[in-house]
Amino acid sequence: MSRPQQITVLGATGSIGLSTLDVIARHPDRYQVFGLSGYSRIAELLALCVLHRPRVAVVPDERAARQLQAGLRAAGLSTEVLVGEEGLCQISSSSEVDAVMAAIVGAAGLRPTLAAVSAGKKILLANKEALVMTGALFMQAVRRSGSVLLPIDSEHNAIFQCLPQDFARGLAPVGVRRILLTASGGPFRETPLAELENVTPDQACAHPNWSMGRKISVDSASMMNKGLEMIEACWLFDARPDQVEVVIHPQSVIHSLVDYIDGSVLAQLGNPDMRTPISNALAWPERIDSGVAPLDLFAVARLDFQRPDEQRFPCLRLAREAAMAGNSAPAMLNAANEVAVAAFLEGRIRYPQIACVIEDVLNTEPVTAVDELEAVFAADARARVLAEQWLSRNG
Ligand code: NAD
Ligand code: MG
Repeated sequence: MSRPQQITVLGATGSIGLSTLDVIARHPDRYQVFGLSGYSRIAELLALCVLHRPRVAVVPDERAARQLQAGLRAAGLSTEVLVGEEGLCQISSSSEVDAVMAAIVGAAGLRPTLAAVSAGKKILLANKEALVMTGALFMQAVRRSGSVLLPIDSEHNAIFQCLPQDFARGLAPVGVRRILLTASGGPFRETPLAELENVTPDQACAHPNWSMGRKISVDSASMMNKGLEMIEACWLFDARPDQVEVVIHPQSVIHSLVDYIDGSVLAQLGNPDMRTPISNALAWPERIDSGVAPLDLFAVARLDFQRPDEQRFPCLRLAREAAMAGNSAPAMLNAANEVAVAAFLEGRIRYPQIACVIEDVLNTEPVTAVDELEAVFAADARARVLAEQWLSRNG
């Protein structure tokens, strides 16, 4: 057997990071942890270092580094500690690394993910915001470096599994009519519209089927997550926005479908557990045990489908408009959403105001071309300033 693959997990202390380490630990003959990163939960990062013995760990600043180093010394570990974005880029691009799990949440994951792409690593992409922000530039960098890009988002991983291996030729040449992107509809799928005014962050984060980080949980409640995923699907599978249809499927058993011109519709099913797409991408094109229980169709019993209501879910419309506008619009949409969701989680605004912040930013700031990374960061920064201004006016 060849040597174990060396894996870096960016965002190791998060929901995806922990699920990834769970899968890795089941296959010590195949995978070894090279690098781990954490941001706020340094004690948890230390515990992960003790368990997985990475060569390098990355923390946000010197204070966190001293805390981690003290713990590592006490545990008798020689893990090297690096700091900040530079450290993240180092563990993503080190010549010793084979694959990088990009599982930092939000725009903060962009540079380290791109560092892994430029270094030609195998990329396991959970950090959808990075692709949404930089779309064309990201995909160009993937092609240039020859890096293998594998989707971790359960929907995109499902679509990837339902497409032929040569789908990069384009959807039409391989006979695809459209992609059907499933969505659970989140915790507020049936909440009376008048009550949405008073929902709390904890209610928004109580997803009916998936256990996830707080930002993506709020995005799932507002369906901005599906909007970001629609943009993500366009880049990953070279689809136009009108070739991606969102279908509400409350059971979250079908993770997405591909509709072919001969009338065949292929779907991928499974229990809602991220260890399935993570294992699929880690071992691709092979399959390995993920620890996920087999799907019991008799217990599932039924599968329901509904058309999404854009009055209930205005974020879905805003994302579609940003996808059509292209250029800087998706980066601004993402940045405004990050500011608005953080403000909602901090109790500064009410849930329906998330969409108001984003709409105001998109209506105020003109869409500009983004032919280099700096232009993306500039659009992201402008959108954050405008969103903060909205909050000071209305929050
Ligand atoms: P999470 O909040 O549980 O974890 C986020 C991780 O990012 C943590 O390790 C945290 O320390 C790190 N982090 C946060 N801010 C950072 C910063 N400024 N700099 C560096 N690191 C930082 O989130 P999650 O649910 O694991 O989601 C991670 C990514 O995966 C997101 O982009 C999300 O959209 C995507 N995703 C998650 C799921 C899921 O089931 N959780 C499914 C599909 C896609
Ligand atoms: Mg998803």
